[in-house]
Amino acid sequence: MSDFPAQADVLIIGAGAAGLMCAAVAGKRGRSVLVLDHANKVGKKILMSGGGRCNFTNLYTAPDNFYSENPHFCKSALARYTQWDFIALVEKHGIPYHEKTLGQLFCDNKSRDIVDLLLAECREAKAQIRTRCEIQRIEPLEGEGEGEGEGERKGFEVHTSLGKVVCESLVIACGGLSIPTMGATGFGYDVARQFGHHIIPTRAALVPFTLNKRALKRQADLPGTSLAVTASCGEGSFHEQMLFTHKGLSGPAVLQISSHWREGESVVFDLAPGMDLCNWLSEQKAQKPESHLHTALAELWSRKLVQFFLQLNGLESKPLKQYHESALREVAEKLQTWTLTPEGTEGYRTAEVTLGGVDTNEISSRSMESQKQPGLYFIGEVLDVTGWLGGFNFQWAWASAHAAGAEV
Ligand SMILES: Cc1cc2nc3c(=O)[nH]c(=O)nc-3n(C[C@H](O)[C@H](O)[C@H](O)COP(=O)(O)OP(=O)(O)OC[C@H]3O[C@@H](n4cnc5c(N)ncnc54)[C@H](O)[C@@H]3O)c2cc1C
Repeated sequence: MSDFPAQADVLIIGAGAAGLMCAAVAGKRGRSVLVLDHANKVGKKILMSGGGRCNFTNLYTAPDNFYSENPHFCKSALARYTQWDFIALVEKHGIPYHEKTLGQLFCDNKSRDIVDLLLAECREAKAQIRTRCEIQRIEPLEGEGEGEGEGERKGFEVHTSLGKVVCESLVIACGGLSIPTMGATGFGYDVARQFGHHIIPTRAALVPFTLNKRALKRQADLPGTSLAVTASCGEGSFHEQMLFTHKGLSGPAVLQISSHWREGESVVFDLAPGMDLCNWLSEQKAQKPESHLHTALAELWSRKLVQFFLQLNGLESKPLKQYHESALREVAEKLQTWTLTPEGTEGYRTAEVTLGGVDTNEISSRSMESQKQPGLYFIGEVLDVTGWLGGFNFQWAWASAHAAGAEV
């Protein structure tokens, strides 16, 4: 006889960050919980996150670190399950961690520690988990039809490759579209549409830029080279590292600004962030008038980069004394407003997250329950809430999962 449960109080589709967290919270309230995932193992994105060390939260998490068409939506859940709550859980499990930079907390050892934490919490909560399970069909159940609540929806019948399950609450925790090879699908959006939800158009975010052939030829010597920049596009501006790659540009500054970028738009890079470069060059001229421009700039960047930026901007390198103040201002301006139009992005193949998703105007910000279908919940990345780079996306997964787990 199959050990596949035919009934559960709570059925969660997706055994990723949000799904496992929700299972633990709901299970500890005494609800019987079943988590289903089509992948061969749970938490695959957690395992590959943060370069294998999982940047599991950010000390400075605040609603401003998230993009959404409905920016107020995330506030309630983030306030009720904070970064400090997750840090306390990490400490309860004795997982060593450290702050890398900008409040980003990483495991000292492996991302596996976070998956093990979630599995231990699920075991304690007696939540059952099944992998390699395809979800075939979801049917809402009608109420008994007695008196007042006539026609009221009463749970769901979910048909899967492992059998049929009847549940009271159904939680969609399928994540976004990024990295299809890790099991990402648009299934969560399909379920949302089935129940009449609107989807905010999706696009790849926290993703490297690709450049055209000409630009790639120019930077052929640079892949692997990085420097600190401020990258700006639209209302976004990030001061972090930029990395030259064989396909274009990456690094935290580029990943961050990709969330603001739309096809055809330009991105402006300040290659000497936080500096008054014109003033600095004037000082260099006063101190070392015989020194060439490229020698002065080599104090800021590697010689390879100096050569690249001078060539790119059609700037010749002469002794500093030969530059009038206006010429130095022009050099500084070119280097502090390097403007580039990416050809595109590497797309969902390498994107860390998906912008857009289930419209939160139709979801309760307290419980994550659908306002269109009682008993149906959406949590994590499938919703139109997307964090900056730096542990914010996991914090959203934990917080939204906790909000739903307390209600399902
Ligand atoms: C390379 C990479 C590195 C990242 N690093 C970080 C980081 O360090 N810090 C950070 O905060 N964020 C990071 N992120 C983002 C973070 O991983 C996600 O935002 C987070 O995992 C979202 O959690 P989720 O539970 O909503 O979705 P997921 O973790 O993606 O889980 C969704 C689950 O649903 C399952 N599923 C999908 N479709 C179906 C279906 N049809 N049937 C059944 N199951 C299905 C999937 O197999 C998966 O297990 C990274 C992302 C990537 C791709």
